Amino acid sequence: MAMTATLCSSCFRDPFLKAFIDEKGTDDSCSFGCTGSKALPLTMIADVIGDALSKHYSPVDTSHDEIEVGEDPVDLLLRLTGLEHPQAKAVVEYLRNREIRTHGSDQFFGSDLTFRTPWPFGQENRWQDFKQRVKFEARFLDPAAKYILDELSRDLPDFARGVAVSALPAGTRVYRARIGQTSEDATRIIEAGLPELGPPTTSQAHPGRMNAAGISVFYGAIEPDVAIAEVKPWVGAWVAVATFEATRDVRVLDLARIPSADQCESVFAPGFAALSQRIGFFRSFEYEIAEAVQPGQELIEYVPTQVVAEYVARTLELDGIIYRSAQTDEVGKRNVVLFPRNQVTESEDTTAVLRFPLKFVDGLSELRRVTGISVRSAGEIIWSRYVDLPPQDSEE
Ligand SMILES: [Zn+2]
Repeated sequence: MAMTATLCSSCFRDPFLKAFIDEKGTDDSCSFGCTGSKALPLTMIADVIGDALSKHYSPVDTSHDEIEVGEDPVDLLLRLTGLEHPQAKAVVEYLRNREIRTHGSDQFFGSDLTFRTPWPFGQENRWQDFKQRVKFEARFLDPAAKYILDELSRDLPDFARGVAVSALPAGTRVYRARIGQTSEDATRIIEAGLPELGPPTTSQAHPGRMNAAGISVFYGAIEPDVAIAEVKPWVGAWVAVATFEATRDVRVLDLARIPSADQCESVFAPGFAALSQRIGFFRSFEYEIAEAVQPGQELIEYVPTQVVAEYVARTLELDGIIYRSAQTDEVGKRNVVLFPRNQVTESEDTTAVLRFPLKFVDGLSELRRVTGISVRSAGEIIWSRYVDLPPQDSEE
């Protein structure tokens, strides 16, 4: 590409790059044959693009890491800027050469590198700040921690294209699973029904990622196979799976639907960094919900997610949170946690799940047997797929 190559505002779809060229450009013709738009030297626009990429993305070295995949730089530019392939290629070539000139070797735009957004381990990680605070400085929701959450959840219904808060309509089914020690034990659990398959009573509630000891929350899954995977059964284990139904519309913070920052906003927009940090917080929170805790560390390691969960329940007054499962590699597999309401109203309906907007669907409980587990890993993440069959199809 000659040094005098130009790009014009019609080459781009991104509104911020278009406006930049329209404002600063000249009437020089576009090297790529467009007519009637302002144009600027390709080098000048590529510098702007390169700065944004190095600020908001991390390189992945595909020559060393065969598992972790990022996005090819040309593909990333096609997606982010709306450039056509020849223009995007010219921009990437310029950025590579610029880097070789200034650093002497390929570093950020090298030919083996792809890109990914740096989550959940970005440098300016607000989740890490928040965690540090509630774990080691001021337990629970002190004004500073509350301020962080207030800021992050401002205008939540409109945040991230308006998908962060959603409703599970009345009648939506959710599932819970329990492992039986033997097939007889699992059968006994199913026959006992709600008392064995529902959430624990408050006095029996062990601390978890979303609840302090003594506070019973409902951990469930949107799909039965996720409920099975979440109890981490072994091959040969007998699992009782129960069905529940929402008795009204249930409003949830839907972490699974929050898109990546660059799907919500132009990476060239002035507010992109702030949006990216906000989404990074929710991503890191979701990631941590699923992460295992070293035995003995639960008391402190559970605190950050517990504090956010309580904030979602009490301050945002949402019924629960939907989050992706880390126990299955299938896309879109989701868990749901529902928070209890204060008042326990005695119900004549024996299928009502006290404190929760749920009823137990008697007669739909199932006995499953895990016949195989397949495991695959990517980086530090290990996914397991649980294969299960109804017991009559298995050998025993
Ligand atoms: Zn053009």
